Amino acid sequence: MGISGVREFCRPQSARDVVDLLAKHGDRAVLLAGGTFLHGLFARGLGSGVEVLVDLQKAGLSYVKAANGGLALGAMTTFRELAESEAVQKTAEFAAIRDALQYPPAQIRNQATVGGCVASASSLFDLPVALLALDGSVKSLGPRGPRETTLAKFFVDYFEHSLEKGEFLTEVLLPKLPPRSASAFLKLETNSNDLALVNVAVRITLDQAGLCRDARVVIGGGVGKAPVRAVSCEAVLKGQRPSRTLFESAAQEVSSDIQPVSDHRASGQYRRAVAKVYLRRALLRAAERLGVEIA
Ligand SMILES: Cc1cc2nc3c(=O)[nH]c(=O)nc-3n(C[C@H](O)[C@H](O)[C@H](O)COP(=O)(O)OP(=O)(O)OC[C@H]3O[C@@H](n4cnc5c(N)ncnc54)[C@H](O)[C@@H]3O)c2cc1C
Repeated sequence: MGISGVREFCRPQSARDVVDLLAKHGDRAVLLAGGTFLHGLFARGLGSGVEVLVDLQKAGLSYVKAANGGLALGAMTTFRELAESEAVQKTAEFAAIRDALQYPPAQIRNQATVGGCVASASSLFDLPVALLALDGSVKSLGPRGPRETTLAKFFVDYFEHSLEKGEFLTEVLLPKLPPRSASAFLKLETNSNDLALVNVAVRITLDQAGLCRDARVVIGGGVGKAPVRAVSCEAVLKGQRPSRTLFESAAQEVSSDIQPVSDHRASGQYRRAVAKVYLRRALLRAAERLGVEIA
């Protein structure tokens, strides 16, 4: 059944109303955010049994605001709104988001939303990789009230997330990062409408002495069922002084963290090689953002 199976269109005026509608219609209802991915699901016949579209546009979830020293991103915030927000434009710590949102074409940036992107649970999308490197978490609302889950636990499998029946995603939360933190994101694509062959997000935090106090390395784009946290790379970085040699050593470690797939777009071997190069470049970019001279 395609979109022609839809009999009812609802535009709830609050997050609570969304939960009531999901409870009322159960599996017959599907959420509509920007509609840039949903249309593809329908086109592939994956909207089977769907009769009710619940449009989130008026549910009051479009915002980027300060929260506990970090940021709260409303689920219906578009890529463009997020990219143009002051925190993303001006800070080194959230710069990975700025980088990631440069890739989708303008029509998608105007329409696609933070919530739709994360809830799609695609291992090939860009923004989730950046949000993972920033230790993001997801706030959801359901019949039993609000709930918070780390993004790392939110992504379960290909196109599968940990939302329970009747729940939906209301916010992505980004914690306050320590001073001297910077992030960066890079992606390899075949053209500007393409999803990632490989994408990489990093975040480093330096201590007073200029040593790497903390690091996050996340790789996406066909290297696992969901974006992968490269803990072996992080271990190489921690406690060390940023340098080209250090970044090269960290990049070499990525092989033990990822299991790239071979498909019609690239071989696993190629993805593995690219992940190393892009990881090294992303680390250099993050270090530059902290004003560090890299020897
Ligand atoms: C031409 C094109 C180019 C693209 N290029 C890129 C690119 O360069 N980089 C990239 O990362 N991505 C790219 N994308 C993919 C894009 O990121 C996704 O289509 C987009 O993020 C989906 O968001 P949406 O708001 O449109 O979601 P929708 O299509 O409205 O919804 C997607 C899914 O999420 C569910 N959903 C939506 N909101 C919620 C919520 N709040 N809670 C729970 N479930 C929800 C819907 O029911 C649906 O199943 C591209 C897509 C297209 C069509």
